[in-house]
Amino acid sequence: MDTVALKNKRFSILGAARSGLAVAALLKERGASVFVSEKAPADKMQHAATELERMGVPFEFGSNTGRVLDADAVVLSPGVPSSAPLVREALAKGVSVVSELEVGSWFCQAPIVAVTGTNGKTTTTTLIGEIFDDAGRPAIVAGNIGTAFSLEASKAGPDSVAILEVSSFQLDHIAAFRPRVSIILNITPDHLDRYEHSFEKYIASKCRIFENQREGDVLIYNWDDDVTRREVDRLANPGITRLPFSIVRPLESGAWVEAGDLVTMVYGTKASIVPVMQIGIKGGHNRYNSMAASLAAQAMGIPASAIGSTLLSFQGVEHRLEFVRELDGVKYVNDSKATNVDSVWYALQSFDSPIVIMLGGRDKGNDYSRLRDLMRKHVRAVVAIGESADKVVQAFGSEFPVRRAGTMEEAVQTGAELARPGDVVLLSPACASFDWFENYEHRGRVFKEIVRSLDERSS
Ligand code: ADP
Repeated sequence: MDTVALKNKRFSILGAARSGLAVAALLKERGASVFVSEKAPADKMQHAATELERMGVPFEFGSNTGRVLDADAVVLSPGVPSSAPLVREALAKGVSVVSELEVGSWFCQAPIVAVTGTNGKTTTTTLIGEIFDDAGRPAIVAGNIGTAFSLEASKAGPDSVAILEVSSFQLDHIAAFRPRVSIILNITPDHLDRYEHSFEKYIASKCRIFENQREGDVLIYNWDDDVTRREVDRLANPGITRLPFSIVRPLESGAWVEAGDLVTMVYGTKASIVPVMQIGIKGGHNRYNSMAASLAAQAMGIPASAIGSTLLSFQGVEHRLEFVRELDGVKYVNDSKATNVDSVWYALQSFDSPIVIMLGGRDKGNDYSRLRDLMRKHVRAVVAIGESADKVVQAFGSEFPVRRAGTMEEAVQTGAELARPGDVVLLSPACASFDWFENYEHRGRVFKEIVRSLDERSS
């Protein structure tokens, strides 16, 4: 968007954390008039206050007042829910509401590769970034993954590529956001609390990633996921190039497994990328992620021959099936990022050895019945943790040895006692972490520290 178009426009930004500050700076720089509103009290927002004062941007802390509505558009930070009263009021008054992602895209000259899905976004986004890096191609990696897109957007020139992790919340408020390449990894129930408990609404939100795509753009999606396939068939613009991927059957274009190799067919050229058994990140879900990343890289012009070596060497992202150590023949694995049932479903399939699994935390309405068959196949014992320990005991107590633990230390100790040589002790809790921890990273770090100190303790 050019500076002229922004000159007399007034924007109110909700949220003054990293993304809010970045988008304020971006809009202000281009001559717009900006106001920032943050619900958190002023004593928690000292850094933001200093930054905003330095930029000359007016702000309010402690509540979102009606002043927010005195604007041409309201910009939402990624953490602000669409259900916030002021958002509803803005929409009712006809004030446009856009996400930080949308605003970032106005200033980004680089083509965008956008990754969404219920699970696997961070892994896939990071992997695409690594492929670009290894191939010596300039790219920025931003979005939900840590660095705000609006902080990086204007730095990426037309020769670069913006690789973005995109959440459904950010997609809820796009207008013109148009990725050159979009990826939908999967769509399973999660976060339904933010979608009036409607799975259909959540699906619709994810599918907005391709709503502005046109001729020349590429849509990469999971053919094996019935929901995703159905929605792509129903909604995708006919002019866009579709590249599906499957781990169960060969396809006419896209990616699949053939004679043990990950193969792709992109723009009529077939290529063998790598033997699937040699992919560095393990499990069926990571085959999907690897296929999606390979297709995205090829769609952006990276030759197939340059992709395989990254797939061999990439070891994944912290807190996602992260190997911690082996002690007395038992492997300890940190999958703290598994905050829903679906990711645990994949985690269970990623090991050939019996598993002692730590389950529980802040429950988001989990239905554990989906795990039962797989648990029978893979699980030796369960350690029930966190505020939902009772629910875990109820779900599995009659079939498996289940022991309750009141702290992470006790949980690791119990896991070590229950495991036999050759087993895996797996923290893959299917729940959010906010009952015992600040976030899932904190939970994962604490788990790893305790695991690393185990032998000192037992000796
Ligand atoms: P996101 O950024 O979408 O939350 P992550 O890459 O952080 O995804 O992974 C979150 C959790 O989901 C981890 O436990 C991981 O092992 C699991 N996971 C990763 N990729 C997939 C996938 N394609 N399908 C299902 N689960 C996955």
